[in-house]
Amino acid sequence: MQWGLIGASTIAAEYMIGAIRAHEGNSVDAVLSSSRARADAYAAAHDIPNADTELSVLLARPEIDAVYISTTNEKHRDQALAALAAGKHVLCEKPLAMSVADARTMVEAARKAGVVFATNHHLRCAGAHRAAKALIAEGRIGKVLSMRVFHAVMLPEHLRGWRIDNPAAGGGVIPDITVHDADTVRFYLDEDPRRVVAQAVSSGLGQGVEDSVMSVWTMPSGIMVQSHESFTHPFAGSGLEVHGSKGSIFARNVMSQRPTGTVTLVTEAGETDVPYESEGLYEYAITAFNRAVAGEGRPAANGIDGVKSLAVAMAVRQSALQGRAVDVNYEG
Ligand code: NDP
Repeated sequence: MQWGLIGASTIAAEYMIGAIRAHEGNSVDAVLSSSRARADAYAAAHDIPNADTELSVLLARPEIDAVYISTTNEKHRDQALAALAAGKHVLCEKPLAMSVADARTMVEAARKAGVVFATNHHLRCAGAHRAAKALIAEGRIGKVLSMRVFHAVMLPEHLRGWRIDNPAAGGGVIPDITVHDADTVRFYLDEDPRRVVAQAVSSGLGQGVEDSVMSVWTMPSGIMVQSHESFTHPFAGSGLEVHGSKGSIFARNVMSQRPTGTVTLVTEAGETDVPYESEGLYEYAITAFNRAVAGEGRPAANGIDGVKSLAVAMAVRQSALQGRAVDVNYEG
């Protein structure tokens, strides 16, 4: 499959170009940047044959089957709609859009176009998370009672641009990290948060956007969920715990872009280290996407998953701003 990159981004450079090329038969044919100089430099640096500055030019390339959209968040909607209108399969970065209604419009456009549309939620692709979820499904911790997500990290210096000072581009830790945690919780528990209560602050990096947030989510089953995201914590480590009536899962340093961390199961029988597959997260996502295009199964995270993670994140932000509990609005 031949891919076009919409956005000369860091994430494409650091992970996605490699993940796409890791699959036999995949190639990256063109990159789009709004700047001629950046398009050319990026194409040269990553050995991409075509550098475009007009979306219509990239989308008119007949050899391109799929596009990966990794521009800043406010551009995702229009670029995705144009790609879908051109009949391309779309892997879109999170958050899918600036509003749930826009994200729904994108998913509906993909359905009408009859192409694959996926959200790049990488965490559910991690062997560690898949192994931990399997423990729950096998009943190893009994009835799930609660889940805690620890995702307070230090934003690397080279990413301290629009994320920390540009609300119009989708900045803030909530659209950046809470969306991922919402997807991860939904992946583990197979249910959608119904109501959230949250507090957010700016603790050193955010200018006009929050850089830290804590929230508690009501799940339909009654399972309690708490989640913490931040850009300003250098030594907190990341992780996730799931506590059940017969055991607990402690997953440490697993909220990562790499297949790292440990998963430990604690029950009456003692403590067990849980092995997991170490495939790259983004490689796993591309494999699932390729298969979906071939008519075999679904992407790791589809469009509706992206709509729902965004809906939870938007409710968290609204709750933090308004100082009250907010029902998650999945319809937009
Ligand atoms: P970047 O800031 O690296 O890139 C975003 C855009 O910024 C690019 O499309 C580019 O515009 C522009 N840009 C890049 N470098 C420069 C520069 N030197 N001067 C001016 N503009 C520049 O963003 P990220 O790669 O960090 O994030 C992109 C998207 O990917 C976001 O939606 C983010 O949420 C998502 N993301 C997802 C991750 C995941 O694991 N799923 C991880 C990281 C990010 P142009 O294309 O016009 O050149």
